Amino acid sequence: MLKTMDYDIIIIGAGPAGICAAIYALRANQKTLIIEKETIGGKIASSPLIENYPGIKAIKGPELSEQLEDQIKQLGGKIEFGEVINIQNKREEKIVITKNKTHKAKVIILALGTKYKKLGLPEEEKFLGKGISFCATCDGFFYRQKTVAVIGGGNSAMANALELANICQKVYVIQNLDHLTAEPMLIDQIKPKENIEIITQASVKQIQGEEKVTGIVIEEKGKEKTLTLDGMFLSIGQIPETEIISPLIKLDENGYIVTNEQQMTNSEGIFAAGDCVKKNIRQLTTAVSDGTIAALSAIEYNTK
Ligand SMILES: Cc1cc2nc3c(=O)[nH]c(=O)nc-3n(C[C@H](O)[C@H](O)[C@H](O)COP(=O)(O)OP(=O)(O)OC[C@H]3O[C@@H](n4cnc5c(N)ncnc54)[C@H](O)[C@@H]3O)c2cc1C
Repeated sequence: MLKTMDYDIIIIGAGPAGICAAIYALRANQKTLIIEKETIGGKIASSPLIENYPGIKAIKGPELSEQLEDQIKQLGGKIEFGEVINIQNKREEKIVITKNKTHKAKVIILALGTKYKKLGLPEEEKFLGKGISFCATCDGFFYRQKTVAVIGGGNSAMANALELANICQKVYVIQNLDHLTAEPMLIDQIKPKENIEIITQASVKQIQGEEKVTGIVIEEKGKEKTLTLDGMFLSIGQIPETEIISPLIKLDENGYIVTNEQQMTNSEGIFAAGDCVKKNIRQLTTAVSDGTIAALSAIEYNTK
């Protein structure tokens, strides 16, 4: 039998994967702590509308996040706000270190998700929150009747553009490929919007402004062009938030966590679930699937 710890299971990340794992853990009477550094619900909290979760025809992301939080509270679960900066595996004892606390558990479930990719331009950092945003649901309000650009051509870019088209005077969509890569259903919704202009085969070369973004220089089919803007939304993909667990946990070449079929990592007793895991599809349904498997595997590990 394992030694008694502060917790049976510590889950890092309160996105859909972490919350789903917590539901299973709490229902199995595991003493469970969830640690979250930003928002309960994770990325789904910034989704304007979810229409692909079985049993729920349509729900706004913030509303689903509230329901996830309520479910945890109803089960007597504990969510602590804090950023985990390190984890250690001392065989039977796993250590989780946040900026101001240290916790012990029998097992850890990593549900760290991903963070938004940036363009890599030198002036980008100084404009974060000053004209550069990632989430239309969170920040679209600041651009009422203004002109913005959405950078990207996938599902998140289309979701952002659609939401912004209802708020802003003009929305440019800047896509580096010669076509949009979003689901056809989303592209069909974009087409009739008269205030959305799609520019393909274009990349951002420079961000202009002093205190805040006032425009961008793009290269479109080999020609440079300046767009006057009030803001821009980056939707060019995501990267895993796995810096804190390396080198203890095996990652693939892109930084995603490698797990086995039980969602266990190379480090015994440390499981991983959701978008931070190496896999091909990253959706709400796949995140909760991983969360379920990770929790049930963790419970089995704790009771063997
Ligand atoms: C705008 C947008 C719209 C979307 N719409 C849909 C949709 O309609 N349908 C769909 O199926 N999917 C959608 N998705 C994808 C879906 O949101 C993700 O697949 C899902 O949220 C993944 O869940 P997760 O729990 O693995 O990760 P996340 O949701 O990313 O949650 C991870 C959590 O871990 C926390 N965390 C990370 N590192 C630490 C740390 N060191 N310490 C403490 N906490 C930490 C983060 O703050 C975050 O809250 C959308 C995504 C976006 C961005």
